[in-house]
Amino acid sequence: MSDLKYKIIIGLEIHVQLCTKTKMFCGCALEFAAEPNSRVCPVCLGMPGVLPVMNKKAFEYSVLAALALNCEIASFTKWDRKSYYYPDLPKNYQISQYDLPFSEKGFIEIPLESGESKRIRITRAHLEEDAGKNLHTAGNFSQVDLNRAGTPLLEIVTEPDMNSADEVKALAVELQRIVRYLGVSEADMQKGHMRFEPNINLIITKDGTEYKTPIAEVKNLNSFRALERSIEYEAQRQLDEFLDTGKVMQMGNKSTRGWDDANQMTVLQREKEEAHDYRYFPDPDLLPVEMNDAWLDEIKSRLCELPLQKQIRYVTDYKLSDYDAHVLTAERSTAEFFEQAVSATIEQAFIFGGDPKKICNIITQAGLKLAHEQNCTLSELGFTPENVARLARMVEDGYVNASAANTILEEMTKTDKDPQTIAKDMNLIQKSDAGELEAIVDQVLADNPKAVEDVKSGGKKAKKAQGFLLGQVIQKSKGQANPKIVSQILTKKLS
Ligand code: ZN
Ligand code: MN
Repeated sequence: MSDLKYKIIIGLEIHVQLCTKTKMFCGCALEFAAEPNSRVCPVCLGMPGVLPVMNKKAFEYSVLAALALNCEIASFTKWDRKSYYYPDLPKNYQISQYDLPFSEKGFIEIPLESGESKRIRITRAHLEEDAGKNLHTAGNFSQVDLNRAGTPLLEIVTEPDMNSADEVKALAVELQRIVRYLGVSEADMQKGHMRFEPNINLIITKDGTEYKTPIAEVKNLNSFRALERSIEYEAQRQLDEFLDTGKVMQMGNKSTRGWDDANQMTVLQREKEEAHDYRYFPDPDLLPVEMNDAWLDEIKSRLCELPLQKQIRYVTDYKLSDYDAHVLTAERSTAEFFEQAVSATIEQAFIFGGDPKKICNIITQAGLKLAHEQNCTLSELGFTPENVARLARMVEDGYVNASAANTILEEMTKTDKDPQTIAKDMNLIQKSDAGELEAIVDQVLADNPKAVEDVKSGGKKAKKAQGFLLGQVIQKSKGQANPKIVSQILTKKLS
């Protein structure tokens, strides 16, 4: 067997739909699932003689995203026409940016499994408009819906710096978090707000010689799963093809492939990259955009702490696990709610703030579940960060146990009462009174002589038997006995 090693090389092209109210070059509303061809006007229908006008908000959203991706912002940028003919593109060209994109040379830090981060270079980011949609759902013909035509798209191109499907997924997730944090895109994959096109090939080392397989570009992936699976599939396919045929990269033998989700495989679309002549030329109907310092500073002032920075800070500042920190920072509103709870002034014990770990537990174990059930964000559930901090303090002080805290939190979505009042009203306060608990313990010990014997014998069964007795006491108290105190009483009585 010969000596063979290989490395996967992946670059990405990503289209992100911006969440502006209106389209890129006309005043039509951006609306998902509206009646076909109801959100159109002469501009986005490509009627002759109409004049497009740039959506300033879309441009500012793009600059904001590019700043977060550490890109340089051009002081002068222009619009170009990219010509091609397709039924869903009535103008026969797409307004895009060619040689002078509004930004380039950035990078994004992605979190790796190991807990470290990796820097992926961004080649460029430019702004363009989307095409309409061809529908092939009715009988023996196709229909065209132009509602999407003219939707602002931010196109981001990375350098081929990724080396596994995991890294690509990490970048996709990170980018989704970033654009959501900035509020420039809803980044809803199911609505096609983010579409990925990975360029994949292998560098194979065989018997000391290095070979590169031809690059395959997989078009239009709109789920994280398809993105991951297509890369894994493509790496294996290229390796097999190399071993079978010895096919290697030559000048321009790049292919375009599609993802067949039903069969979980990529399918060849075009073998040789056609010598595409998009006949790019500056759009004579649109003015170039000149960026001045004041405008750029104003956009910069809208930047916020980015999700990965927050995640790392939560681990160092609050001693949370990387997993918890990731869950809390997935959505900006959740992270902000958490931070408000941590820094809330609560009167109990006159302590400033709640315990971050306890607050985190309440949010991640109960809060996000409730938010998911009610299809809203954490901050829309109706309780305040202060009350969550109070509840966390109650758990910390042993006033209520963790499961009671979940019940109280749920009640807090329905009433404005504070958690302490709810705990009293619902009879959820832990019994910590030693005398009262001792009576229950005595009863349980009398009822379970076998377990008592096992504990006293000190043998293998002792630990399990003591756990059993503790469980019995908790059960008898209807879950209200403070386990810590019960344990102490049990140990004292059984030693
Ligand atoms: Zn329009
Ligand atoms: Mn594009």
